[in-house]
Amino acid sequence: MPDIQTPLLDRLAAILGPRGILTDPADLAPHLSDWRMLYTGRTPCVLRPASTAELAEVVKLCAAAGTPLVPQGGNTSMVGGGIPDETGRQMVVSLARMNRVRDIDPLDMTMTAEAGVIVKAAQDVAANAGCLFPLSFGGEGTATIGGVLSTNAGGNTTVRYGNARELMLGLEVVLPDGQIWNGLRRLRKDNTGYALRHLFVGAEGTLGFITAAVLRLFARPRESEVALCAVRDEEAALALFRRFRDRDETAVRAFEYMSGTGVGFYARFIEGGSVPLAEPGDHVVLVDLASSRP
Ligand SMILES: Cc1cc2nc3c(=O)[nH]c(=O)nc-3n(C[C@H](O)[C@H](O)[C@H](O)COP(=O)(O)OP(=O)(O)OC[C@H]3O[C@@H](n4cnc5c(N)ncnc54)[C@H](O)[C@@H]3O)c2cc1C
Repeated sequence: MPDIQTPLLDRLAAILGPRGILTDPADLAPHLSDWRMLYTGRTPCVLRPASTAELAEVVKLCAAAGTPLVPQGGNTSMVGGGIPDETGRQMVVSLARMNRVRDIDPLDMTMTAEAGVIVKAAQDVAANAGCLFPLSFGGEGTATIGGVLSTNAGGNTTVRYGNARELMLGLEVVLPDGQIWNGLRRLRKDNTGYALRHLFVGAEGTLGFITAAVLRLFARPRESEVALCAVRDEEAALALFRRFRDRDETAVRAFEYMSGTGVGFYARFIEGGSVPLAEPGDHVVLVDLASSRP
């Protein structure tokens, strides 16, 4: 570790406490490479604030020292945005300890979750309150609320509920100078001036640290059916989508097109993988229909 970092590290340790700063190479390793193992960077430390106030102090200190910071959630990103570069100058800030659901309101259908809440945990908290947090994708057991907002993630249910942006009503952000911007509004009909919150969605942490978000919840479906359909071609897949949508657009929770080649790979290479179609098709769609009505 370069000596020049030492005084800054001491001051950061004073803010964050012993659990809030990692410097051991074995502890740093999981934070240095991306999900696909395409990129590996270097860092003197991983900072792990436990609150928005702690993070704000860290950002102020590092801004004054000219030390770049890289926000990191679950580190599931496919494009290496959550890891440091190779210079060894950038410090990683993991939001993992900021993992509280601050509030859930089943009447208002909102949840206020900190950035480090895992997506699956948010789904579970919503379900326990009789609601649905609909964002769902393969990385949901590791990805965080801060990460999905910063990448504007979608997933299986985007066709029905939208991407992460559409699921967000308000944000709390630590800005690059360490100021805390409190935009944790719940109002759906919020037409007050500029919608600054939207700047931070999909920004990959370039404009600040998302520390908490007000998320939209929905009614839990009472019934659902999933079907795998082989269709003649892409046009037929679109025609089928239109038919379902015209019948009841709120019922189409997912509609995923897959080429026959992709489905064939799955059947061939994934252990236990089988395709429940009488005949293999060149074009396949997965249809997930759900209804909240009895
Ligand atoms: C198996 C798998 C399946 C996937 N399927 C889909 C899919 O179907 N659709 C889809 O859209 N995506 C999909 N993804 C990608 C997914 O959207 C991202 O991996 C996820 O959103 C990143 O969340 P994270 O917490 O891991 O963030 P990280 O990977 O840690 O970070 C992602 C970016 O956000 C920044 N960031 C993280 N937290 C914050 C914060 N609190 N404030 C500011 N910036 C922050 C980071 O600096 C980085 O630039 C999939 C990923 C996996 C692993």
